[in-house]
Amino acid sequence: MTLQENYKRYEDWKFRSSAYEMALSIINIDKLTVAPPAGAAYRDERAAYLAGELFAIQTDPTILPILAELKTDADPVIRREAELYEREILKIHVIPKEEYVAFEEAMSASYNAWLEAKKNADYAVFEPHLKGMIEWKKKLYGWRNSSLPLYDQMLDDFEPGTTTAFYDRFFSRVKERLVPLIHRVVNAEPAEEAFLYQYCPASLQKQWTTDVLLPLLGFDPSWGYQNETEHPFTSWTCENDCRTTTKYLEHNVTSSIFSTIHEVGHAWYEHNIDPRYDGTILSFGVSSGMHESQSRFCENYLGRSRAFWEAAYPSLRKQFPDQFGSVSLDAFVRAVNASKPSLIRTEADELTYPLHILIRYEIEKGLFSGSIDPADLESVWNEKYREYLGVTPSNAAEGILQDVHWADGSFGYFPTYALGSAFAAQFFRKMNEEMDVDEALRSGNYTSCIAWLKDRVQTYGAFLSADEIMQKATGSPFDPDCYLDYLEEKYSALYHL
Ligand code: ZN
Repeated sequence: MTLQENYKRYEDWKFRSSAYEMALSIINIDKLTVAPPAGAAYRDERAAYLAGELFAIQTDPTILPILAELKTDADPVIRREAELYEREILKIHVIPKEEYVAFEEAMSASYNAWLEAKKNADYAVFEPHLKGMIEWKKKLYGWRNSSLPLYDQMLDDFEPGTTTAFYDRFFSRVKERLVPLIHRVVNAEPAEEAFLYQYCPASLQKQWTTDVLLPLLGFDPSWGYQNETEHPFTSWTCENDCRTTTKYLEHNVTSSIFSTIHEVGHAWYEHNIDPRYDGTILSFGVSSGMHESQSRFCENYLGRSRAFWEAAYPSLRKQFPDQFGSVSLDAFVRAVNASKPSLIRTEADELTYPLHILIRYEIEKGLFSGSIDPADLESVWNEKYREYLGVTPSNAAEGILQDVHWADGSFGYFPTYALGSAFAAQFFRKMNEEMDVDEALRSGNYTSCIAWLKDRVQTYGAFLSADEIMQKATGSPFDPDCYLDYLEEKYSALYHL
C-alpha cells in the first residue's frame, strides 16, 4: 500500500471509531441520567453489541502495521497518535470479541445491581456482581500476557507509567505527614458547620446553580449541558459537547455546589483541548490523574477559597435567606473547609480525602495480589475505615457501596484522585506566582484562572505526557511535598495550630 492509501485508511479508521465512541458515550450518559430503569436490559444488550462492533473496528488486524509505520511519520502529532493508539490496541486485540461483549453485558448488569443495592443499602445484591467483576478483570488482563504484576497493569491503564512501587512511596509520604496533622486538627476547636445541613429545597438549589453558579464558572450552554445522576460524572464527545452531572441533597446544599464545580472542571479540560485533535486519541485528557488535577483544582483550590465566595456568597445568601441570612462570609468559608473524619469519600474534606483513597488503594492492591479475599471485602472496608479515620459505616450504602467505580470494573482508578489533588497543588503554586488568583476570583473573573490552565495544561490533550506537562507548566518534576505543604499551611491557619 502507498503512503497515501495508508493515511486514507487510517483517517477512515479513526472516523469510524469516533462515531461508535460517540454513540456509546451518549447512550451511557442517557443510562446514567434519565433512561427509565425498566428498559435497562433491552438497552444494555444492544449497547454491548455496539461496543463489540467498536471493538472489531479498533482491533482490525490491518491497522497495527499502519500504526507501526505512522510511528515514524514526519509529523509529531501523527507519531504521538499512532503511539497511543498502538498502546491501547495491544491491550485488547488478543481478547476474543465474544468475551469482550460478554464483559460489557456483565458490566451493565453489575451497574444496575449496584444501583439497586445502594438504594436499599443491601450489599448482598451487589456482592456476586462485584466478585464477578474481579474475576472478569483477572481474565481480561490474563489475555494481555504482560510480565507486569496485575495491579501494576491496572494502575498504568489510568496513569501511564505508574506502578505499585510509585504509589507505595507516594502514599507513605502522604501518611507520614497527614496522619499527625489530622490528629492535631481533630483535637483542635471544631469549626461550626451545622448550618450547612439545613433543609434547602432541591428546586431552589437547581435554580441557583443554573442562574448563578454555572454562568460564574463559564459553563456555556453552547458547548456544555448539566444533568442529574446518582453518582456525578462528566462525559464528552468533542470540544463542543461536554456533559456534566450533579446530585442535589436537600440537607447538604454544598454537596451539589462542589460536585458541580468539580465536574465543570473536567468539562473545561475537554473543552479546552486543541480542537484539531477532535475525533482522535489526543482529544482526551492525558491521564486520569491529570483529569482529576483539573477538576479538583477547580473544586478545592479555587472553589473553596474565600475569594471565590466573596463573589458567590451574596447571591447564595439571597437564594436561602432563612438558612444563611445570619451566617457571615467568614463563617461560611470556614465551614466549607472544615475537616473531620467521615464516611463518604465524595463529601470528604480536602485534608482527610487522601486517606479515603489510601483505603481503596490498599484494598485493590490486596485484592489483586491475593492477600485480600473478595469474600471479606465488606469487613476489610469497615476495618480500614476504623483504623485510618476512626469511623464505622452504619450500613453498606455509606460503606462499600458508596462508589460506582468497582461496579464497572474500574480497579486502579481511585489512586489517581489523590495524585490529581497533588498535581493540582503544584499548578496552584505556579499560578499564584504568575497571576493574582484571589483578585480574579474576587471580581468574578473565574475564567481567567481557567485560561491559565488551558494554556499550561489543557490545550495539549494527550499530545504531551503527564510528566512533560508538569515540567513545562511548573518548571519542575512532580513533587508530592508541594501538596503536603499546601495542606499543612492551610489547615494550620484554619485551626490555629
Ligand atoms: Zn473527577
